[in-house]
Amino acid sequence: MPSAPMWTAIYPWSRTLSDTTTTPDAGLTEAAALLRHARHAVALTGAGLSAESGIPTYRGSGGIWTRFGEPTIDGWDLFCADPAGWWRAALEHNAVGSEFAAAIDSAVPNSGHLALAELERMGHLAHVITQNIDNLHEDAGSRAVTEIHGNRRRVRCMNCGTRDRLEMISLDHLPPTCPECGGVLKNDTVMFGEPIPDDALRTCYRQAAAADLFLVIGTSAVVYPAASFPIMVRERGMPLIEINPEPTELSHIASVIVRAPAGVALPALVELLRGER
Ligand SMILES: [Zn+2]
Repeated sequence: MPSAPMWTAIYPWSRTLSDTTTTPDAGLTEAAALLRHARHAVALTGAGLSAESGIPTYRGSGGIWTRFGEPTIDGWDLFCADPAGWWRAALEHNAVGSEFAAAIDSAVPNSGHLALAELERMGHLAHVITQNIDNLHEDAGSRAVTEIHGNRRRVRCMNCGTRDRLEMISLDHLPPTCPECGGVLKNDTVMFGEPIPDDALRTCYRQAAAADLFLVIGTSAVVYPAASFPIMVRERGMPLIEINPEPTELSHIASVIVRAPAGVALPALVELLRGER
């Protein structure tokens, strides 16, 4: 009979720690134990982590979309129909400066981003999948990062998929074109209606399939495909750690819940793993 994964026995699928019985410290101790024994831990991060760096969330009270309305749902179709017109409008918009763009441009990694980079250096974290587009994981020093919704500071070739930093390309002629193949460049941020780039999606599914521990940090993970990764991991009997000040739709399948901001919980995990706490 094949032996069950070790953590299945300790953290059965049905186990849920209720908020009332779980102190943040108890959750942290259990989370640190899981990280210490994991061979391939993968983290999924979302808007809650960036919000701790002062970047407004999209949804929820005070969210950019809540206040100003959601972006057009046919953004991808508009881009495809008139890439040059899209670039002209985008450059004019940036010149005026949106609140969201200004917040991203001035944001720096917070202690949660820095702790994730440290967990990678310590060998406790294999990969970060992020829904954020702000480059803060890379700024913090994380190396193994997949940005499932793209990166606001980059452009991507619609033909060959090559990515470049925005400041590296010429905007003298619109739309800008790929130095590799001459294809049309678009901003790397994934638009409404635009398929997630194949390379990013493949990496995410590969990471979810390889994970023996999954951390969901600062996201309610309601948007597919990101929402499917923690479920995939859970269906394989692997443990799930949720780090979020608020309950989410994933809380009921989490093995360990840490009800704290990432900027508090993740540095504490680093300290526990170093034996400093
Ligand atoms: Zn190209």
